[in-house]
Amino acid sequence: MIRYVLILLGLVFFSCAPKEEEEQTGPPNILFIMSDDHAYQAVSAYGHGLNETPNIDRIAEEGAIFTRATVTNSICAPSRAVMLTGKHSFINGKVDNVQPFNWDQANFPKELQANGYQTAMVGKIHLDGLPQGFDYSMVLPGQGHYYNPDFLVDGERQRFEGYVTDIITEESLKWLKEERDPDKPFCLLYHQKAPHRNWQPAPEYLTLYDDKEFDPPSNFFDDYSDRGTAAKEQEMQVDGHARWGHDFKMLVDPSGDSTGFVNELKRFNDKQRQDWLAAYTPKNDAMKAENLEGKELARWKFNRYIKDYLRTIRSVDDGVGEVLDYLDENGLAENTIVVYTSDQGFYLGEHGWFDKRFMYEESFRTPLLIRYPKEIKAGTKIDKLVQNLDFAPTFLDYAGVEIPGEMQGESFRELVGGTTDEWRDAVYYTYYEYPSVHMVKRHYGVATDRYKLMHFYYDIDEWEMYDLENDPQEMHNIYDDPEYTDVQEMLHEKLDSLRQHYGDSDANDERFLEEYLEHRANR
Ligand code: CA
Repeated sequence: MIRYVLILLGLVFFSCAPKEEEEQTGPPNILFIMSDDHAYQAVSAYGHGLNETPNIDRIAEEGAIFTRATVTNSICAPSRAVMLTGKHSFINGKVDNVQPFNWDQANFPKELQANGYQTAMVGKIHLDGLPQGFDYSMVLPGQGHYYNPDFLVDGERQRFEGYVTDIITEESLKWLKEERDPDKPFCLLYHQKAPHRNWQPAPEYLTLYDDKEFDPPSNFFDDYSDRGTAAKEQEMQVDGHARWGHDFKMLVDPSGDSTGFVNELKRFNDKQRQDWLAAYTPKNDAMKAENLEGKELARWKFNRYIKDYLRTIRSVDDGVGEVLDYLDENGLAENTIVVYTSDQGFYLGEHGWFDKRFMYEESFRTPLLIRYPKEIKAGTKIDKLVQNLDFAPTFLDYAGVEIPGEMQGESFRELVGGTTDEWRDAVYYTYYEYPSVHMVKRHYGVATDRYKLMHFYYDIDEWEMYDLENDPQEMHNIYDDPEYTDVQEMLHEKLDSLRQHYGDSDANDERFLEEYLEHRANR
C-alpha cells in the first residue's frame, strides 16, 4: 500500500514538474501595468511624501526604479500609440487625441503573439478601433466612466456594475486564472483609467484624507514671470480653470448656481449615489459656510483636487497588490516581468496647475518601476533618460523576439540588468494639440540629464531653456542668457541631430497642423 502511494506521489510529482519548470525557464511573462495621469510625485517610492503606495513601491524594492523616465508626447492617446509601436508620434501618425490611430502598423503585442505568446489587454487604451495584437481585449470606449462603466469586450459593448479600477483588476485576475494557457508565456496589458480627471474615488475611499490638510507646492502661486507666453496663456490652473461641478464635485457652486454635477451621478446606482452624497454633502456645506476668498479659496480647491486624485490612486495601488499576490501564490513571480508606469506625468499644483501636455518636468516625466528577479537586482536605481518609446523594443528583447526595424526606441534590458551603462544622452519631445482644451501651445524640444531646450511655435515663435540643476522647478528661462551661450549652442545641435535622427522636420509640423485645423473645422 505504502509502495503504491509512493508511486502515485511520484507520478504526480513528475507530471507536475515539467510544467512548473517550463513556467520558470521559458520566455518570460510580461505584466504591463499602466495607469493614466499618475504623477511620479504620487508614487511613494519616489520619496515626495504625499501619499503611500506600498504595493507599487514593492516593484521597485524587489526590482528597479527609473528616476528620469520620460514620454515623447505628454498626452493620453498619443502616448499609448508610442508605447505600442515604439515609434514617435510623427512616425506612428497619432500625434494628438484627434487623429485616428492606424492599428495596421507593427506593435509589440502583435510581435509577441506571432511568436508564441498569449496576449490580452484589459482596461483603458483610448485608441479607436478593435485593438490588434490581442487574443483577448476588454477596453473602455474612449475615456470610460468611473462608475458602472461600459467595456468593449472583443469589440462588443457591455456594461459592468461597480467601480472601474476594481473591475479592471478583477477582470485581469479572471483572465490570468481562467483564460491563461499555461503552455504559453503571457503578455497582459493591465491598464487603469485612474487617476484620470475627474478623479472620482471608490465608495470605500470617499472620505480618505478628510482629516488631513495638504500644503500646495511652493510654486503653486506662480505668476509665470521669467517664462514665455505659453506658460502665461495656458488654461490649466487649479484655481482658475478647474470647474466647480466636474472637478470639485459641488452640486451647487458658492454663488448658488447649479453646476450640472448632478448629471454625473445619474450613472450611479442608488447605493453608490447615497454613499457619494453622504460623503461629499457635509464637506461641501462646510466649505460654503466658510465663505473663503483669495488664497484661502485656492488652498481649498487644491485640497479638494489632490485628495480626490490621491483617493483614486489608493484603489490603483490595492489592485497592484492583488495582482502581485496572485503571481506569488501561483509560482509566477520569478519568470514574470512586471512593469508599472503611467501614460505621462501630471501637475499636482506645481505652477498652480493640474493636467499635463508641457515638456516641463512634472508632465514630461512619468513613473517607471520594473521587477524581473532573474535579471534585475533588487533596489536598482536608474537615472538614465529612458522613454515610453523604449517599451516595445524592451519587451521584445526580453521575449527573444526580433525587433522590427521601424521601431525607434531602444531596449533598456541591459541597462536595467546592470550589464551596460551606455545609453543615449538626450531625448526628443513633441506636443501638437493646440488650439484645444487647456491651451498648451505646440512645442518640441530636447532634454539632457541637466538641461532642456523647447521651441513653442504656430501662433508664437519662442524658445525656452532651463538648467534643472540650478532651477529644478523651471522658473527661469535662461534662453539667450550670456552665461549659457555654449550650452544653448550644444542643445541646438542636439535638437537638430535628434530631429534628423528620428525623421522630424518643420514640414511634419506644418502638415500635422493643417490636418488638425481641418479636423476641427469639420467637427
Ligand atoms: Ca493620460
